[in-house]
Amino acid sequence: MRQVRLDDAAFMNQRSDALVLKTREYGDADLIVTFFARELGIVNGFAKSARKFRSRFGASLEPLSHVRLTLMGKEGAALPRITQADIIDSFRAIREDLQLLLHVAPLADFMAGMLHEHEPHPRRFDLFLAALRSFEKGAPRELVALAFRVKFLWMTGYAPRTGGCGRCGATFQGSFALFYPTQGTVLCRNCAPEGEAEAVKLGAEAVKLLETVKTRRFDELAVMPVSGEALAGAGRVIDAHVKRHG
Ligand SMILES: [Zn+2]
Repeated sequence: MRQVRLDDAAFMNQRSDALVLKTREYGDADLIVTFFARELGIVNGFAKSARKFRSRFGASLEPLSHVRLTLMGKEGAALPRITQADIIDSFRAIREDLQLLLHVAPLADFMAGMLHEHEPHPRRFDLFLAALRSFEKGAPRELVALAFRVKFLWMTGYAPRTGGCGRCGATFQGSFALFYPTQGTVLCRNCAPEGEAEAVKLGAEAVKLLETVKTRRFDELAVMPVSGEALAGAGRVIDAHVKRHG
């Protein structure tokens, strides 16, 4: 019978669906790749010789590629070796459309900034993947980008409160609401702090939009009529909120 040494057991293959977030050149021909892996969370891997010639291995490590990833290394190692990355979906259409990439790349950064290494978050992974599929299908870019950010914040428990006053609970009425980034919420006129200059004005349609995107799927949102003004207003609230609390 073959004896398994403890050292062997410590070296293991880890497999997961993963999205390539970014790559960094290393040495003459190697790459260091940052993945968001469904079962492993954010992980960095070392891709030996990935930049040699036009290797298929290298092609599978282009940013945004969805791959079935195999890592080899000690559990929890800082830089395990990438032994395999089989493309499930390359999302090439997104990568090669610079205008679209301008919408998608910041979302990857936003997401990576809110995740820790080696903490799996399958639902957040699935959300990002669904957003990428939606972008690829040509869904409205601003709307999908906004919905992704709102849904992601909601999943992490950091969503801004916009459906009503965060202090007294009064439901939204009237033509606009005031969102206070310092408080992370909309506040009614009675509860608003005095002399707070930082409030973001939010029209009624933007308030409704921020609530709607939480619960609708991307494909449902894609066919929803939304004004540019509501999108811009909702986007300003998320920007201000993330800047303050992200
Ligand atoms: Zn109030």
